[in-house]
Amino acid sequence: MNYDYLIVGAGLFGSVFAHLMKQQGKRCLVIDKRPHVGGNTYSPCIRGIHRHDYGAHIFHTSDPEVIDFVCQHAHFNRYTNSPIAIHRGKLFNLPFNMNTFHQMWGVKTPAEAQAMLEEQRREARAELQRLGLSQPQNLEQQALLLVGKDIYHTLIKGYTEKQWGCTANTLPPEIIRRLPVRFVFDNNYFNDSFQGIPEGGYNVLTDSLLNGIEVRLSEDFFEGREEWMKVAKKVVFSGPIDRFFDYCFGHLPYRSLRFEHLEVEESNFQGNAVVNYTEADVPYTRIIEHKHFESFGEDVYRLPHTLITKEYPAAWTPGAEPFYPINTPEANACHERYKQLAAQQDRVIFGGRLADYRYYDMAPTIRCALDAARKEAQ
Ligand SMILES: Cc1cc2nc3c(=O)[nH]c(=O)nc-3n(C[C@H](O)[C@H](O)[C@H](O)COP(=O)(O)OP(=O)(O)OC[C@H]3O[C@@H](n4cnc5c(N)ncnc54)[C@H](O)[C@@H]3O)c2cc1C
Repeated sequence: MNYDYLIVGAGLFGSVFAHLMKQQGKRCLVIDKRPHVGGNTYSPCIRGIHRHDYGAHIFHTSDPEVIDFVCQHAHFNRYTNSPIAIHRGKLFNLPFNMNTFHQMWGVKTPAEAQAMLEEQRREARAELQRLGLSQPQNLEQQALLLVGKDIYHTLIKGYTEKQWGCTANTLPPEIIRRLPVRFVFDNNYFNDSFQGIPEGGYNVLTDSLLNGIEVRLSEDFFEGREEWMKVAKKVVFSGPIDRFFDYCFGHLPYRSLRFEHLEVEESNFQGNAVVNYTEADVPYTRIIEHKHFESFGEDVYRLPHTLITKEYPAAWTPGAEPFYPINTPEANACHERYKQLAAQQDRVIFGGRLADYRYYDMAPTIRCALDAARKEAQ
C-alpha cells in the first residue's frame, strides 16, 4: 500500500481532511471524478471574473476555529450577502426587514410593520380555526402563520414552488419552521460574525489546502473500486453513501439544478450579486452576477463585460448532479440504514454533504472535516 489515506472527493471535506492528515505526516492521495478540485465551490476565472460554477457560494460562519483555519489559506473580502427579490417588476430587499416592509406596505416604523404583520397572522390563525385545524398541515399554512399573506404570495410561494417542483400546499410545514423577520433596516442576510468571498476565488482556498498533496482528477472511485481500495490503509469517502453500498436500500432522493452561464457585454447587468425571481412563471429562481462577489464601488466598471448565471431548479434522476437532499422522514430513515452499514466499515471514513446526506454550508463542512481529522489523529 502506497498511501495512508485515499481521499475520494476533492471538495471542501476531502481537501481539509487531506491537508490535516498531511500535517500529521501521513501520505495522502486525493481523487475526484470531476476534472477540477474544489467540488461545488469551484470558481474558475473567466475573462477576469471568478464564476461560481455550481451556484452562488458565500462563506459565512461564527465558528472561531473555522474562521482561523480558512484565514490561514485565503484572504476574504468584505462581501456581504444582501439579495434582492423581483416580483412583477417590483424590487424587494431580503431578508425580510424594515426595507422590505416599507417596499411592501409603505410603513416607516417598526410599530407600523409589526401591526401589519400581526393583522395578517391573525387572519391566517382564523382561517386555520375555520378549517378545524390546531396545527398547520402544509408549508402554505405554515408560511401564512409566520409572515401573512402579502409576503407569502409576493416573496415565498412562487419561489418555493419552483424550487421544490410542487405546490406549497403539498409540501410539509416542517420545511419552514422559522422565517426570520427583522424590524431594523438591515439587508445583511446572515447574522454570523464572519462572511466574505476568498480573494482570487475559492480555488485559492482549495489549492492552498491541497498544496503538496497528490491529486488525480477525472478518476471515478467506482470505476476500479477494488483497485482503489488497495492503494491505501484507509479510504475517506465524500461521495454519495447510497452509491457506495450499491443502492441496497434504494436511492436517496435529491433536488437538482441546471445552470445557464452567460457572458453579457455590459459592465453592470443587475447591480447586485444575487437577484431572486419569485414569480412562478419565470422559470429560473435567481440570476447571479458574479463580478459583484469581488468588485465593489467603481471597480465594478473596470471590465466592460460581466458574467451571469441563471439558476433553474430541476428534478433529480439517477445520474444527474445531486444538489439538495430531500430530507423527508422516509429518506432520513433510509439514510440511517446506510449509516449503520457505514459504521461497520473499519477501513472507511464517511464525511461531507453526500456521505452524510445533509445540506451543509461550507463552514459546517469544514467543521466536520476538522472533527473527523482530530478523531483520526487520536
Ligand atoms: C447551489 C448551491 C449553493 C450553495 N451555496 C452555499 C453558500 O452560499 N454558502 C455556503 O456556505 N455553502 C453553500 N453551498 C454548500 C457547499 O457547496 C457545500 O457545503 C460544500 O460544497 C460541501 O463540500 P463537500 O466536500 O461535502 O461536497 P462537494 O463539494 O460536493 O465535493 C464532493 C466531491 O466528491 C466528488 N465525488 C463524488 N463521487 C465521486 C466518485 N465516485 N469518485 C470520485 N469523486 C467523487 C465530487 O465530484 C465532488 O467534487 C451551496 C451548495 C449548493 C448546491
